Amino acid sequence: MNQQPNLKIVIVGGVAGGASAATRARRMNEQAEIILLEKDADVSFANCGLPYHIGEEIPQRADLLVATAEFLRRRFRLDVRTCHEAIAIDREQKRVQVRRTDVLSGKEEATCWIDYDKLILAPGAAPIHPPLPGATASNVLTLRNLSDTDRIKALVDQQGSRRAVVVGAGYIGLEMVEQFVRRGLQTTLVELQPQVLPLLDPEMAQPIASEIEQQGVTVFLGQSVEQFLVDEDGSANAVVLSDGTQIETDLIVLGVGVRPNVTLASDAELPLGQTGGIATNAYMQTSDPDIYAVGDAAEYLYGPTGKRQRIALAGPANRAGRLAGQHAATGSSDPMSPVQGSSVVRVFGVNAAMTGITATQAKRLGLAARSTTIFAKHHAGYFPGAAMMSLKLLYAPETGKILGAQAVGGEGVDKRIDVIATAMHFEGTVRQLAGLDLCYAPPFGSAKDPIHMAAFAACNELDGIEAFVPSDADLIDKQIVDVRTSGEIERAPLAAATGAISIPVDELRDRIGELDASRPTVVSCAVGVRGHIAARILKQHGFEVANLSGGATARNQSIVGVPATP
Ligand code: FAD
Repeated sequence: MNQQPNLKIVIVGGVAGGASAATRARRMNEQAEIILLEKDADVSFANCGLPYHIGEEIPQRADLLVATAEFLRRRFRLDVRTCHEAIAIDREQKRVQVRRTDVLSGKEEATCWIDYDKLILAPGAAPIHPPLPGATASNVLTLRNLSDTDRIKALVDQQGSRRAVVVGAGYIGLEMVEQFVRRGLQTTLVELQPQVLPLLDPEMAQPIASEIEQQGVTVFLGQSVEQFLVDEDGSANAVVLSDGTQIETDLIVLGVGVRPNVTLASDAELPLGQTGGIATNAYMQTSDPDIYAVGDAAEYLYGPTGKRQRIALAGPANRAGRLAGQHAATGSSDPMSPVQGSSVVRVFGVNAAMTGITATQAKRLGLAARSTTIFAKHHAGYFPGAAMMSLKLLYAPETGKILGAQAVGGEGVDKRIDVIATAMHFEGTVRQLAGLDLCYAPPFGSAKDPIHMAAFAACNELDGIEAFVPSDADLIDKQIVDVRTSGEIERAPLAAATGAISIPVDELRDRIGELDASRPTVVSCAVGVRGHIAARILKQHGFEVANLSGGATARNQSIVGVPATP
């Protein structure tokens, strides 16, 4: 490892990516001068914990301060400069222009230039605050840092605050909904897309929407906010939706996405990538090898497509920061691995996790992808407390390469998605997934884990043992055979399946003559397991047959939004 004497590293942004870069640089190079510039008053705080402090699930604000400026100075001999904003980069002279502001007033106190040998940009992203009428009202807020947290929490704590509107049903929006309900606020959620968690496939997100509604939250989907009605005192008292609905409220939180902070980079003529983040190579270097970019402002290699794109998540920011810090300090590091976009959220009693691409994304990108959906208990069904989860696995039809997965349910969805993300990291196939030797005892899992079940289904399809149709497929002109019991069918009729023939699976062999073997046939059960058996019986009797992926549960979630009750 090469340690340049008197090396001077300047880092812009002192939280996830920036703090990781700074501390790794110090651990790698004891001699370097390392300056950490942060425009706000805090460094290295837990962005991801902010909603939970507003909801008082994390009662102490101090617990959000992962490492204070003082700690970073003491432990790592970092020159931490809070309230210092980098405003320009002079690449020719290798220096950064910095504006120092007053911690309380935010007013400019001075500007100066700081030289660098290596510069690491980790300025993150800014929450989008749409320029709607009334959007500048004092109680229309976004959440990114501790000051935002303090502002929102003060409004929630304020006597008289009873109602909140959250705009945007992504991760931050849903976390805020959960925490507002926890604080006893009458909460409304508004989302432009026709589903919550638009990153997930619609049927996978459906149980989350049901859970939110069951918690007493009013949900408006497929609606945009047109304006905020503002009082004379400058605070908004109502949100007006595109259909004219007016929702009275005491505070509004916008969680409608983020915009990467790239002005500093683009003003210095560092190229941006196709998704608007700072273009980087495998070592997180920009087009200028002495300038690195990491975190929400940068682009990464996205595993499922092999293209570079922005991925605004804490894991990649921390890992990329660490690598860039080492590379800047020593001249070498491992390359940054492809990122899969693995993420997870808890929404009251339902958890949702995902990695890689979804079916919706695959369609949008024109990527050939097949999927299987299974429903299974998170541990052995006979062991108390088994929670149901749905697991959707996407793979390449030619090679079986895993492209992505989504899991929704109670306990254990994170574990399944982490295992699949690991397999994807090693470019695994569904066949390899089916062969994984996973640990098992009844309190933890099943001898055939949900991961195996999803992979078995995918392998069956790859091997021509069983064909699947997607849960929302058009079944017109198909001979539909519902192999559930009549009681089950009565309780949850199969959606958009006119003329479905009811033959319980155990009677199928005896009643096969009631079916027309010359017609393309689709079988369906509750979740796909009995459908698999039925499909095998019919196939071996000469039928051209497919199993409805995820059975009636997935179909009814896809088409009519009926929650999963397999
Ligand atoms: P940040 O951590 O935001 O740090 C950027 C810093 O740079 C900021 O402090 C900013 O003030 C500073 N800065 C900007 N411009 C300048 C400048 N010119 N000069 C000096 N300083 C500057 N991700 C997950 O994976 N899981 C989660 O559960 C999760 N929850 C989240 C919850 C919330 C409420 C938020 C806001 C984010 C959450 N994220 C989560 C996303 C995650 O926090 C970000 O992806 C991650 O912090 C990005 O790291 P970063 O270093 O790029 O930016």
